[in-house]
Amino acid sequence: MENVLIVGAGPVGLMLACELGLAGARPIVLEKRTEPSELPRANGLGGQIVEFLDHRGLLERFSAGSPFAGRAPGFPFGSVPLRFAGIDDLPLQLLLIQQPRIERLLTERATELGVEIRRGYEVRSLAQDAEGVTLNGGLRARYVVGCDGGRSLVRELAGIGFPGTTDDEPLRLGHFRTDVGVFESPQFDGLEPGWTRTPHGRLLLTSLHPGVLVAGVREKGEPLEGPATIEDFRAAVRRVVGRDLPLGEPIWLSNTVSQARLAERYRVGRVFLAGDAAHLFPAGGSALNVGMTDAANLGWKLAAVLRGRASGGLLDTYESERRPVAERALMQTRAQAVIDQVGGEDGAALRELLTEVFAFEQPLRHLAGLLHDSGVRYGAEPGPHTGSGGSGRGSGSADHPLVGRFAPDLALADGRRLAELMHAGRPVLLDLGGGAALDDDWIDVVRARADDPPADALLIRPDGYVAWAGKDGLAEAAERLFGVPASR
Ligand SMILES: Cc1cc2nc3c(=O)[nH]c(=O)nc-3n(C[C@H](O)[C@H](O)[C@H](O)COP(=O)(O)OP(=O)(O)OC[C@H]3O[C@@H](n4cnc5c(N)ncnc54)[C@H](O)[C@@H]3O)c2cc1C
Repeated sequence: MENVLIVGAGPVGLMLACELGLAGARPIVLEKRTEPSELPRANGLGGQIVEFLDHRGLLERFSAGSPFAGRAPGFPFGSVPLRFAGIDDLPLQLLLIQQPRIERLLTERATELGVEIRRGYEVRSLAQDAEGVTLNGGLRARYVVGCDGGRSLVRELAGIGFPGTTDDEPLRLGHFRTDVGVFESPQFDGLEPGWTRTPHGRLLLTSLHPGVLVAGVREKGEPLEGPATIEDFRAAVRRVVGRDLPLGEPIWLSNTVSQARLAERYRVGRVFLAGDAAHLFPAGGSALNVGMTDAANLGWKLAAVLRGRASGGLLDTYESERRPVAERALMQTRAQAVIDQVGGEDGAALRELLTEVFAFEQPLRHLAGLLHDSGVRYGAEPGPHTGSGGSGRGSGSADHPLVGRFAPDLALADGRRLAELMHAGRPVLLDLGGGAALDDDWIDVVRARADDPPADALLIRPDGYVAWAGKDGLAEAAERLFGVPASR
């Protein structure tokens, strides 16, 4: 029997494979495609996943050749710009990188960690019993994770509902090879980069890479059937803006429709869901951040349970911690979709008002937090005030503001940053002068100094979250976190 079978070699399945591989759990990834997908879906990563890649020592690899990597200068929130210039301490980072490159780099990393990626293997059936899960009537594992995308068969076979809504404005999307300065051509008169609204629909024109024009057309109607064609695309442009545009040679065309959905459960017995299989967001910027950090949350927990280092109860915290993150992401992306879609004078008034509100620092901070990690503190009640207070499950010192939060990237006096302590994917007890000690061969104990330390000591989980902070109650906190005594 295998340990873990991961269904789907998209970014989320591959991220999970890397986490399990790092923890020595030897998962197998099953992927129906015989070759990696070259579809240019996501154009970037934003939010906490960027910090997490830094925790794994991967940020340099991912940033190489990126047109932008660093603090997000802004964000198009439902087509109303958020401008973060002048607020230097926002956590939100952005890394422009195309999805096929994300998948290539994660495949490379998973392979380095000894993970098997079995391509051309399509999961068609699933049955589970007390000891394990059987796929396609033969392959067996103790756990199966469905990272098989929005149309997840694993979710369906596990009997998990996926309620939500489908947008009534399907999107035709295309990438076109085009001249630099295409917007100067007279046929583009009156059209600016970004979305243009007309009474017949909306047209997106933007360029993320020199020589490549990204164009999109939204019109009210049913989801689009059949393959995307350039003739249909051109006709849709004509209907929306009333003329033909010299878009250039199509590189790639696709028809899609936004959906807002959240799985009723993230786990049934030994079957888990992560990424698009668990949630679909109707506006951009959050899907990979939430999906890949789902993988970061689940990976170490599965590995710890498989190695007998934690009780099975730890696995329940996957849903209790991650569902609130997706709920908040769903809330803000639904709001973005509406802000973007409402037409006419009502829509113009809404966007004008929000432009005024977004000129203030406090709303900008709040929205940056939502986009970064949904503003969720693990263990606290989800909601707009999760940034403070709340008592943490698995927290030793629940009143410490860092407990349940991703650890801040402290600069240590020996020249290291906290992120560098996390490369091995193990729990870290960072003693900042308080004399904290744990006799446990799984937990790396690091003694260091920092200017203005936030606590005497921090117990940091493998996914970078602070499980305990302070002076007292460390052993109990570790036991509560892992469900078994820390000392063995
Ligand atoms: C046009 C577009 C633009 C986007 N832009 C962004 C963006 O800028 N930022 C962002 O964060 N997100 C963006 N997204 C969303 C992002 O692409 C998805 O959230 C992401 O791909 C989800 O990753 P995943 O690993 O969960 O699922 P997927 O990437 O869908 O991977 C699922 C994998 O499972 C495999 N599979 C499915 N069924 C089976 C089976 N039965 N057996 C075996 N294998 C199976 C599939 O072949 C696939 O490889 C965009 C999406 C689109 C369509």
